[in-house]
Amino acid sequence: MSHQETLQDLFIDQLKDLYNAEKQLVKALPKMAKAASSGELQSAFKNHLEETKEHVERLEEIFESIGASPKGKTCKAMAGLVAEGAEQIQQNASDSVMDAGLIAAAVRIEHYEMAGYGTVRTYAELLGNREAAKLLQQTLDEEGNANKELTDLALNEINAAAMPA
Ligand code: ZN
Ligand code: FE
Ligand code: FE
Repeated sequence: MSHQETLQDLFIDQLKDLYNAEKQLVKALPKMAKAASSGELQSAFKNHLEETKEHVERLEEIFESIGASPKGKTCKAMAGLVAEGAEQIQQNASDSVMDAGLIAAAVRIEHYEMAGYGTVRTYAELLGNREAAKLLQQTLDEEGNANKELTDLALNEINAAAMPA
């Protein structure tokens, strides 16, 4: 474990956690898309997969600019969130209930990421790293939009379709 002396050290550790979290998501999102029945939900997962690949690249850009390695951390929280998504995928569920369950797992993931990016964006501002702050804010906005898109899908059709007859 590396010694954390200043906020810059914590910033790097938190970025590593997010980097590993995003890498885990790049593997998990195709499985969630495949398990979804609604075409809109499939598209939402696929679009967010492409965004997630950009999130990985933005983090790599930040690591390069500060001369640090992105490697060295496992995000245990994301491993748990992804495991819960996998647990839902394994359920024997009707189509709309499966979709509602996938959204329930996915919005937990987005909230976790939103918390992480909000934190590191603030650290970047405090540390005077404007370029990093801008890149992290971009990702934060995309996580927020993904969360809203998934929530709207649930509210507007999927939850209702999953209601008992
Ligand atoms: Zn992301
Ligand atoms: Fe984490
Ligand atoms: Fe995300």
